[in-house]
Amino acid sequence: MTTQITWTCAECKNPIRDHQGNVGADAHAAGDYLSAAAEAPSGGTAAALMAGPRPTRWEAYHHDCIEEDTRRYEVGVQNLRTYQQLAAATGHLMEKAWFAGTDWKRILLAKAGSMSTL
Ligand SMILES: [Zn+2]
Repeated sequence: MTTQITWTCAECKNPIRDHQGNVGADAHAAGDYLSAAAEAPSGGTAAALMAGPRPTRWEAYHHDCIEEDTRRYEVGVQNLRTYQQLAAATGHLMEKAWFAGTDWKRILLAKAGSMSTL
């Protein structure tokens, strides 16, 4: 049996069915974060790093629960239902120049973590 990955809307907290929403992140903000990180002086204190800009967050939303935003890069939840799809999407996303400025790792760990309950 193939495990189905579930996605919960960050706005209404309900599960998102296929073609009813997506997982997205602000690609421009991610690029800005990378630029800021590159310009930051090296050897900063941990406190300074903590206070600085954070990687752009990926969130899942129903189409009806979020304003359309051309800055947002989105992947339909129907394309992120299996671990194979998640791996394929990750490979595709890694080709994006801004991707390293996002917290996709949080998504991977959260979804992979659910395997341990099987
Ligand atoms: Zn919603």
